[in-house]
Order: sequence, then structure tokens, then C-alpha cells
Amino acid sequence: MKAAGASCETEAGASAPAFCLRANRGGGTASNDQMNVPKVLGLLLVAAQLSLIAQGQESRSTPIFKFETNEFWLNLHHFLYVLGRAENHARDAARAAVASAPDDATAGLVGLTEKERNSWADAVAAYAKGPSQKDLVFDEPLAALTGALAAAKDAKTPPSSEVRTALEQAAPIYRKVWWPKHEATNQAWLSSMRTLVDRHGQAVLRLITHAYGMEWPASGYPVHLSAYTNWAGAYSTSGNLLVVATKAGAGTKDLDGLEIVFHEAMHQWDDQMIQILREDARKIGKLLPPDLSHALIFFTAGDAVHRVAPEHVPYADAYGIWSRGLKRFQVPLQQVWKPYLDGHGTRDEALAALAALVAAESKQ
Ligand SMILES: [Zn+2]
Repeated sequence: MKAAGASCETEAGASAPAFCLRANRGGGTASNDQMNVPKVLGLLLVAAQLSLIAQGQESRSTPIFKFETNEFWLNLHHFLYVLGRAENHARDAARAAVASAPDDATAGLVGLTEKERNSWADAVAAYAKGPSQKDLVFDEPLAALTGALAAAKDAKTPPSSEVRTALEQAAPIYRKVWWPKHEATNQAWLSSMRTLVDRHGQAVLRLITHAYGMEWPASGYPVHLSAYTNWAGAYSTSGNLLVVATKAGAGTKDLDGLEIVFHEAMHQWDDQMIQILREDARKIGKLLPPDLSHALIFFTAGDAVHRVAPEHVPYADAYGIWSRGLKRFQVPLQQVWKPYLDGHGTRDEALAALAALVAAESKQ
């Protein structure tokens, strides 16, 4: 782990699709008492207030997510990034979310001139020697670069960076050969996801914001779509930047995808949740395990989607996430967090009980 406050599901030895994320440095506002009703009010007023709250939840006029499907530079960057990792024989290049990229590239090269093929190979080589040696989530300046490329959308030129030359060199070839297919992949993924968000999104949003006592961005949470991202199929990084891969094999389809977009977006609250848990552990003279907040997100997002769509098996259960470094949290979460999600007690009581169960003895 290379970044303080970061959490990342381990890639080592894993064969199932997965996703990986990082605590952001900004965040929403904690409001654990937002559902409290003053006791002095009469029952009718209480009922009226609760009704208004319910109406407000049902009538959210802005979208929950703001999906971006046509970010040319972001898509080209990720394609070159995963091809560079394949060229470097990085172990994660065999993961399902990215394994098809070299074949995708080879198929497109068939119709190109030798000059174009050489230009493309040069761009991939530049990535192999540069960004593809780094981790998109934890290694600077890749997070900042991802943000700048997303902001550039489909501009004529990419923003200034160490890979600007490579991107400009590859751009006309990518635009001619792969971009129409990759953009169509993004659109198809979005069409499918919109149906699920329309059907279940408001209910999942209510469950997770109520469980965490946090506020969702009023204008919706941005989700940037890219045919490829990294081995994980989706990631979050600083600045609340969430990128989701749309290629088959990325593990982001259907209800898994719905859980993933909510899961990744919940990382916007990492700083606040980690602070609360760390303080709970400190009060009893113990240390907070670094991955607890991540386990909490896996549990809460999976539980929320399962509640609104009972056929959904939570991602962590379906893909063996617990056995990849989070096993110690599974039973404590069932013991104290699940009853809270079922309506018993308060968030802070549940978090304190959770910290008490899993916090480690201080060595000092
Ligand atoms: Zn996560």
C-alpha cells in the first residue's frame, strides 16, 4: 500500500473480477442526526415531517449519477495504459478486465499502413516505459492525469502531460480504428445501467445514505466510462474521480455493476468514516485496521443492492473478496453492522461496537 488513507483490494493471486479504490481527500458532510425529529413536536407534525422526508427522497429531481460516455482522451489513455502493461508482462495484464486488450489492438492494426502501425507501437512503447509502470490509483501523477484527461473530454488536443506526445501520436489512429467501437461499448453499458438505476437507484441511495448518515452530491455523482480501465475493472481516485470499465469481462455488468458504481461512490466518504472509526479505536486504546472502512463499504453496498433486488448476491460474497484480506471483518460486520442496517440502534453505536471487535492492541 503506497498511499496513506488508501484502501485497495489486493490483486495478488486473485482470479475473479474485482475493483479497487482509494480514499479521496475531499468529501461529503457527515450528518448522523439528519433523521432525528424533535420530541416536542406532536405526532401529527412528526408524521407530516416524515412524509415530507419520504416525498423528498422519492422526488429527487437530479440524477443520482452523471455518466460520461464520450471522453475520447480518457478512453485512449486507458487503452494505451493496459496495452503498455501487457507489453511489460505485468501479472495483472492477464486479469479478465484487461486480458482482451492486446487482441483488440491486434485486430485493429490489420487495416493500417506500416507508418500508422509504427506510430501506434511507439505510443504503446512510451506508455510501457512510463505510466504503465505505475498504478493508476496509488501512484502520482496518474490520478491528476486521469482527472485532466476526463476534463478534456473530446477536445482537439490533450492536456499537457508526460504522455501528451504519445497521446497525440496515437489519437488519429485510435479515432479511426477503435474509438467508434469503444464509444459504442460505453453507450451499451450505459443503456443497460440506466435501466437498473431507474429501477433501483433511489432505493439503494436511500439505504446507503441513511446507513452512513452522509449526504449525496446534489448534482449527482460523476461516473466516467472507459472501455478499459485497469485490472480491477473500476477504480476511484483523488478528487472523487470514478472510472468504470465497460468491456465484457470487466465484471461491471448488471446488478454487479450497480453495486460497483454505488460502492465506488461511497469512497467519497472514506475520510469521515475512517476518522470516526479511528477515534472509536483510540478511545479504547487500540489501533484501527486499515481495511475496515473498505470492508464496511463492501458489506453496506452489497447489502443495499440485495435488499432491493433479492436475486443479487453481494459482490464480496460472489467473488471471494472476504478471503482476500478482509476475512477478519466478515463475522463482526454480521454481528454488529447488519443489525444496524436492519434498523436497530444508531450508526455511531454500531461503528463503535465494530471498532471494538476488530481493533488491534496497540504495541506501544
Ligand atoms: Zn472499495
